[in-house]
Amino acid sequence: MKIGMSHGAGGEVMQDLISDIILSNIQNTRVNGGVGLEDLDDGASIPLGDYEIVISTDGHTIDPLFFPGGDIGRIAVAGTVNDISVMGARPLAIANAMIISEGFPGEDLERIIKSMDSVSRETGVSIVTGDTKVMEQGKLDRMVITTTGIGVAGRGETVRDSGLSPGDKIILSGSVGDHGMALMAFREGFGFETDLESDVAPVWGIVEAALNVGGVKAMKDPTRGGIANALNEMADKSGVGMVLDEDSIPVREEVKAVSEMLGIDPYEVANEGKVIIGVDPEYAEEVLAAVRSAPYGEGAQIIGEVTEDKHVILETSLGGRRILEAPVADPVPRVC
Ligand code: MG
Repeated sequence: MKIGMSHGAGGEVMQDLISDIILSNIQNTRVNGGVGLEDLDDGASIPLGDYEIVISTDGHTIDPLFFPGGDIGRIAVAGTVNDISVMGARPLAIANAMIISEGFPGEDLERIIKSMDSVSRETGVSIVTGDTKVMEQGKLDRMVITTTGIGVAGRGETVRDSGLSPGDKIILSGSVGDHGMALMAFREGFGFETDLESDVAPVWGIVEAALNVGGVKAMKDPTRGGIANALNEMADKSGVGMVLDEDSIPVREEVKAVSEMLGIDPYEVANEGKVIIGVDPEYAEEVLAAVRSAPYGEGAQIIGEVTEDKHVILETSLGGRRILEAPVADPVPRVC
Protein backbone atom coordinates (compact mmCIF):
# COMPACT_ATOMS: atom_id res chain seq x y z
CA MET A 1 0.00 0.00 0.00
CA LYS A 2 0.92 3.65 -0.30
CA ILE A 3 -0.04 6.43 2.09
CA GLY A 4 -2.86 8.66 0.81
CA MET A 5 -4.16 12.01 2.08
CA SER A 6 -7.07 10.32 3.86
CA HIS A 7 -4.56 8.39 6.02
CA GLY A 8 -3.96 11.66 7.87
CA ALA A 9 -7.53 12.94 7.90
CA GLY A 10 -8.84 11.77 11.25
CA GLY A 11 -11.47 9.25 10.16
CA GLU A 12 -11.83 5.49 9.72
CA VAL A 13 -9.09 5.28 7.08
CA MET A 14 -6.60 6.84 9.49
CA GLN A 15 -7.75 4.53 12.31
CA ASP A 16 -7.02 1.51 10.07
CA LEU A 17 -3.51 2.77 9.30
CA ILE A 18 -2.85 3.32 12.99
CA SER A 19 -3.91 -0.20 13.95
CA ASP A 20 -2.40 -2.05 10.94
CA ILE A 21 1.03 -0.43 10.75
CA ILE A 22 1.66 1.55 13.91
CA LEU A 23 0.07 -0.25 16.88
CA SER A 24 0.87 -3.72 15.58
CA ASN A 25 4.60 -2.90 15.40
CA ILE A 26 5.17 -1.22 18.75
CA GLN A 27 5.39 -3.40 21.85
CA ASN A 28 5.96 -0.95 24.71
CA THR A 29 2.96 1.35 24.75
CA ARG A 30 2.21 2.13 28.40
CA VAL A 31 4.03 3.32 31.54
CA ASN A 32 3.05 2.40 35.13
CA GLY A 33 -0.45 1.34 34.05
CA GLY A 34 -1.34 4.83 32.78
CA VAL A 35 -3.21 5.74 29.58
CA GLY A 36 -1.15 4.33 26.68
CA LEU A 37 -0.75 4.41 22.93
CA GLU A 38 -3.42 1.86 22.03
CA ASP A 39 -6.02 3.74 24.06
CA LEU A 40 -5.89 6.32 21.22
CA ASP A 41 -7.03 9.02 23.60
CA ASP A 42 -6.11 12.71 23.24
CA GLY A 43 -2.92 12.09 25.21
CA ALA A 44 -1.20 9.52 27.42
CA SER A 45 -0.57 9.52 31.15
CA ILE A 46 2.32 8.42 33.34
CA PRO A 47 1.31 7.83 36.98
CA LEU A 48 4.08 9.02 39.36
CA GLY A 49 3.46 9.14 43.10
CA ASP A 50 0.39 11.26 43.82
CA TYR A 51 0.23 12.61 40.27
CA GLU A 52 -0.26 11.66 36.66
CA ILE A 53 1.92 13.35 34.07
CA VAL A 54 -0.06 13.79 30.84
CA ILE A 55 1.77 13.99 27.51
CA SER A 56 0.44 14.71 24.04
CA THR A 57 2.04 15.55 20.70
CA ASP A 58 0.80 16.96 17.40
CA GLY A 59 2.46 17.66 14.03
CA HIS A 60 1.03 20.68 12.20
CA THR A 61 0.97 20.76 8.39
CA ILE A 62 -1.67 23.42 7.94
CA ASP A 63 -2.35 25.09 4.59
CA PRO A 64 -2.43 28.13 4.50
CA LEU A 65 0.00 29.09 7.29
CA PHE A 66 -1.98 32.31 7.94
CA PHE A 67 -5.78 32.16 7.83
CA PRO A 68 -8.76 34.19 9.11
CA GLY A 69 -8.69 33.93 12.91
CA GLY A 70 -5.19 32.54 13.37
CA ASP A 71 -2.03 30.97 12.01
CA ILE A 72 0.08 27.81 12.37
CA GLY A 73 1.75 29.18 15.51
CA ARG A 74 -1.53 29.74 17.36
CA ILE A 75 -2.84 26.34 16.34
CA ALA A 76 0.43 24.56 17.23
CA VAL A 77 0.30 25.74 20.84
CA ALA A 78 -3.49 25.87 21.35
CA GLY A 79 -4.00 22.42 19.77
CA THR A 80 -1.55 20.73 22.11
CA VAL A 81 -2.79 22.68 25.14
CA ASN A 82 -6.28 21.42 24.23
CA ASP A 83 -5.29 17.75 23.98
CA ILE A 84 -3.64 17.97 27.42
CA SER A 85 -6.67 19.84 28.82
CA VAL A 86 -9.27 17.30 27.67
CA MET A 87 -7.28 14.62 29.51
CA GLY A 88 -8.22 16.55 32.66
CA ALA A 89 -4.66 17.80 33.22
CA ARG A 90 -3.40 21.33 33.80
CA PRO A 91 -1.07 22.13 30.87
CA LEU A 92 2.40 23.19 32.05
CA ALA A 93 4.95 23.16 29.26
CA ILE A 94 5.36 22.86 25.50
CA ALA A 95 8.26 21.59 23.36
CA ASN A 96 8.37 23.05 19.86
CA ALA A 97 10.09 21.35 16.88
CA MET A 98 10.08 23.25 13.59
CA ILE A 99 11.16 22.02 10.16
CA ILE A 100 11.41 24.97 7.80
CA SER A 101 11.96 25.14 4.07
CA GLU A 102 15.01 26.97 2.72
CA GLY A 103 13.89 30.41 1.51
CA PHE A 104 11.11 30.81 4.10
CA PRO A 105 10.64 34.53 4.98
CA GLY A 106 12.13 35.49 8.37
CA GLU A 107 9.32 37.96 9.07
CA ASP A 108 6.70 35.20 8.64
CA LEU A 109 8.62 33.00 11.06
CA GLU A 110 8.73 35.85 13.58
CA ARG A 111 4.96 36.38 13.25
CA ILE A 112 4.38 32.67 13.86
CA ILE A 113 6.65 32.62 16.94
CA LYS A 114 4.92 35.71 18.38
CA SER A 115 1.62 33.97 17.92
CA MET A 116 2.89 30.92 19.83
CA ASP A 117 4.10 33.23 22.60
CA SER A 118 0.70 34.89 22.84
CA VAL A 119 -1.15 31.60 23.49
CA SER A 120 1.58 30.59 25.91
CA ARG A 121 1.10 33.81 27.90
CA GLU A 122 -2.69 33.56 27.77
CA THR A 123 -2.71 30.02 29.19
CA GLY A 124 0.32 30.24 31.48
CA VAL A 125 1.92 27.34 29.59
CA SER A 126 5.67 27.76 29.04
CA ILE A 127 7.52 26.93 25.82
CA VAL A 128 10.54 25.28 27.43
CA THR A 129 12.47 23.48 24.71
CA GLY A 130 12.59 23.14 20.95
CA ASP A 131 14.41 22.18 17.79
CA THR A 132 14.88 23.99 14.48
CA LYS A 133 15.81 22.28 11.20
CA VAL A 134 15.88 23.46 7.59
CA MET A 135 15.27 21.43 4.41
CA GLU A 136 16.37 22.31 0.89
CA GLN A 137 14.02 24.42 -1.21
CA GLY A 138 11.36 22.35 -2.95
CA LYS A 139 11.56 19.40 -0.53
CA LEU A 140 9.04 20.66 2.02
CA ASP A 141 5.91 22.80 1.75
CA ARG A 142 7.04 25.88 3.75
CA MET A 143 7.05 24.51 7.28
CA VAL A 144 5.94 21.77 9.67
CA ILE A 145 5.64 22.44 13.41
CA THR A 146 5.45 19.63 15.95
CA THR A 147 4.52 20.54 19.50
CA THR A 148 4.58 18.23 22.49
CA GLY A 149 2.86 19.21 25.70
CA ILE A 150 3.15 18.11 29.31
CA GLY A 151 0.45 18.55 31.94
CA VAL A 152 -0.32 17.30 35.40
CA ALA A 153 -3.36 15.88 37.19
CA GLY A 154 -3.88 14.27 40.57
CA ARG A 155 -3.50 10.47 40.52
CA GLY A 156 -6.71 8.90 39.20
CA GLU A 157 -8.09 12.30 38.19
CA THR A 158 -7.32 12.17 34.46
CA VAL A 159 -10.42 12.18 32.27
CA ARG A 160 -10.73 9.70 29.41
CA ASP A 161 -12.79 9.94 26.22
CA SER A 162 -14.37 6.58 27.14
CA GLY A 163 -16.03 7.28 30.49
CA LEU A 164 -19.64 7.88 29.41
CA SER A 165 -22.59 6.01 30.90
CA PRO A 166 -26.32 6.08 30.04
CA GLY A 167 -28.05 9.19 31.37
CA ASP A 168 -24.96 11.46 31.17
CA LYS A 169 -25.55 14.81 29.50
CA ILE A 170 -23.42 15.95 26.57
CA ILE A 171 -22.21 19.57 26.69
CA LEU A 172 -20.71 21.20 23.58
CA SER A 173 -18.75 24.39 24.36
CA GLY A 174 -19.84 26.42 21.30
CA SER A 175 -20.50 26.62 17.56
CA VAL A 176 -19.23 23.87 15.25
CA GLY A 177 -17.43 23.84 11.91
CA ASP A 178 -15.83 27.29 12.18
CA HIS A 179 -12.20 26.19 11.72
CA GLY A 180 -12.64 23.72 8.84
CA MET A 181 -15.10 25.90 6.95
CA ALA A 182 -12.98 29.06 7.41
CA LEU A 183 -9.96 27.28 5.95
CA MET A 184 -11.97 25.79 3.12
CA ALA A 185 -13.55 29.15 2.26
CA PHE A 186 -10.13 30.80 2.28
CA ARG A 187 -8.68 28.13 -0.02
CA GLU A 188 -11.66 28.42 -2.36
CA GLY A 189 -10.79 32.09 -2.78
CA PHE A 190 -13.35 33.80 -0.52
CA GLY A 191 -10.26 35.17 1.25
CA PHE A 192 -10.73 37.37 4.28
CA GLU A 193 -13.93 38.85 2.78
CA THR A 194 -16.44 36.68 4.64
CA ASP A 195 -16.97 36.97 8.40
CA LEU A 196 -15.99 33.35 8.68
CA GLU A 197 -13.13 32.87 11.13
CA SER A 198 -11.37 29.92 12.67
CA ASP A 199 -12.26 29.28 16.31
CA VAL A 200 -8.66 28.33 17.17
CA ALA A 201 -8.27 28.95 20.92
CA PRO A 202 -6.99 27.28 24.08
CA VAL A 203 -9.80 25.52 26.00
CA TRP A 204 -8.06 25.01 29.35
CA GLY A 205 -10.22 27.77 30.94
CA ILE A 206 -13.39 25.91 29.93
CA VAL A 207 -12.07 22.57 31.13
CA GLU A 208 -10.83 23.96 34.45
CA ALA A 209 -14.22 25.58 35.10
CA ALA A 210 -16.01 22.28 34.39
CA LEU A 211 -13.61 20.22 36.53
CA ASN A 212 -14.03 22.65 39.43
CA VAL A 213 -17.79 21.94 39.45
CA GLY A 214 -17.36 18.15 39.26
CA GLY A 215 -19.28 15.33 37.60
CA VAL A 216 -17.16 15.31 34.41
CA LYS A 217 -17.14 11.75 33.00
CA ALA A 218 -15.48 12.11 29.57
CA MET A 219 -13.98 14.83 27.36
CA LYS A 220 -12.69 15.23 23.82
CA ASP A 221 -11.82 18.13 21.52
CA PRO A 222 -13.66 17.68 18.19
CA THR A 223 -10.78 18.37 15.77
CA ARG A 224 -10.29 16.40 12.50
CA GLY A 225 -13.51 14.66 11.52
CA GLY A 226 -15.47 17.21 13.56
CA ILE A 227 -18.17 16.46 16.13
CA ALA A 228 -19.37 13.54 13.97
CA ASN A 229 -16.06 11.78 14.58
CA ALA A 230 -15.55 12.83 18.21
CA LEU A 231 -19.08 11.94 19.39
CA ASN A 232 -18.95 8.54 17.69
CA GLU A 233 -15.50 7.83 19.10
CA MET A 234 -16.63 8.72 22.62
CA ALA A 235 -19.80 6.61 22.30
CA ASP A 236 -17.94 3.68 20.74
CA LYS A 237 -15.17 3.56 23.33
CA SER A 238 -17.68 3.93 26.17
CA GLY A 239 -19.92 1.17 24.73
CA VAL A 240 -22.96 3.47 24.65
CA GLY A 241 -25.03 5.57 22.22
CA MET A 242 -26.38 9.11 22.25
CA VAL A 243 -29.54 10.99 21.34
CA LEU A 244 -28.71 14.55 20.29
CA ASP A 245 -31.11 17.45 19.84
CA GLU A 246 -30.02 18.86 16.50
CA ASP A 247 -31.69 22.24 17.14
CA SER A 248 -29.37 22.82 20.10
CA ILE A 249 -26.12 22.24 18.16
CA PRO A 250 -24.85 25.76 17.42
CA VAL A 251 -23.84 26.36 13.77
CA ARG A 252 -23.07 29.94 12.73
CA GLU A 253 -24.98 31.36 9.72
CA GLU A 254 -21.73 31.97 7.77
CA VAL A 255 -20.69 28.36 8.37
CA LYS A 256 -24.08 27.10 7.16
CA ALA A 257 -23.86 29.27 4.03
CA VAL A 258 -20.35 28.14 3.05
CA SER A 259 -21.05 24.50 3.89
CA GLU A 260 -24.14 24.51 1.66
CA MET A 261 -22.23 26.21 -1.14
CA LEU A 262 -19.38 23.68 -0.98
CA GLY A 263 -21.46 20.64 -0.06
CA ILE A 264 -19.46 19.95 3.09
CA ASP A 265 -21.10 18.82 6.33
CA PRO A 266 -20.12 21.22 9.17
CA TYR A 267 -20.37 18.31 11.64
CA GLU A 268 -17.51 16.54 9.82
CA VAL A 269 -14.95 19.36 9.75
CA ALA A 270 -12.39 20.36 12.35
CA ASN A 271 -12.94 22.66 15.31
CA GLU A 272 -9.88 24.04 17.11
CA GLY A 273 -11.37 25.76 20.15
CA LYS A 274 -14.21 23.53 21.27
CA VAL A 275 -14.73 20.75 23.84
CA ILE A 276 -17.30 17.99 24.17
CA ILE A 277 -17.92 17.19 27.84
CA GLY A 278 -19.92 14.22 29.12
CA VAL A 279 -21.34 15.07 32.54
CA ASP A 280 -23.25 13.29 35.29
CA PRO A 281 -26.83 14.62 34.86
CA GLU A 282 -26.93 16.00 38.42
CA TYR A 283 -24.04 18.34 37.64
CA ALA A 284 -25.01 19.21 34.05
CA GLU A 285 -26.70 22.60 34.59
CA GLU A 286 -23.98 23.79 36.95
CA VAL A 287 -21.18 22.65 34.61
CA LEU A 288 -22.98 24.36 31.70
CA ALA A 289 -23.13 27.65 33.63
CA ALA A 290 -19.43 27.37 34.56
CA VAL A 291 -18.43 26.64 30.95
CA ARG A 292 -20.50 29.58 29.69
CA SER A 293 -18.72 31.98 32.02
CA ALA A 294 -15.23 30.73 30.98
CA PRO A 295 -13.31 32.33 28.08
CA TYR A 296 -14.47 30.89 24.68
CA GLY A 297 -17.34 29.00 26.38
CA GLU A 298 -20.16 31.55 26.12
CA GLY A 299 -21.93 29.62 23.33
CA ALA A 300 -22.06 26.32 25.24
CA GLN A 301 -25.16 24.12 25.06
CA ILE A 302 -26.37 20.80 26.40
CA ILE A 303 -26.83 18.99 23.08
CA GLY A 304 -28.08 15.61 24.19
CA GLU A 305 -27.85 12.61 26.40
CA VAL A 306 -26.12 9.24 26.55
CA THR A 307 -28.23 6.13 25.86
CA GLU A 308 -27.78 2.38 26.08
CA ASP A 309 -28.47 1.96 22.37
CA LYS A 310 -25.16 1.86 20.41
CA HIS A 311 -25.98 4.55 17.83
CA VAL A 312 -25.46 8.30 17.83
CA ILE A 313 -28.86 9.67 16.79
CA LEU A 314 -29.74 13.22 15.75
CA GLU A 315 -33.30 14.40 16.39
CA THR A 316 -34.86 17.64 15.16
CA SER A 317 -37.79 19.55 16.63
CA LEU A 318 -39.76 18.72 13.44
CA GLY A 319 -39.48 15.03 14.28
CA GLY A 320 -36.60 14.13 11.93
CA ARG A 321 -34.34 11.37 13.17
CA ARG A 322 -31.11 10.12 11.61
CA ILE A 323 -27.93 8.31 12.58
CA LEU A 324 -24.85 10.53 12.82
CA GLU A 325 -22.07 8.43 11.28
CA ALA A 326 -18.34 8.91 11.82
CA PRO A 327 -16.82 10.25 8.58
CA VAL A 328 -14.49 8.01 6.56
CA ALA A 329 -12.07 10.97 6.53
CA ASP A 330 -12.29 14.70 7.23
CA PRO A 331 -13.53 16.29 3.96
CA VAL A 332 -11.08 19.19 4.35
CA PRO A 333 -7.41 18.02 4.45
CA ARG A 334 -4.45 19.81 6.10
CA VAL A 335 -6.46 21.82 8.59
CA CYS A 336 -4.15 21.43 11.57
MG1 MG B 1 -7.82 15.67 20.59
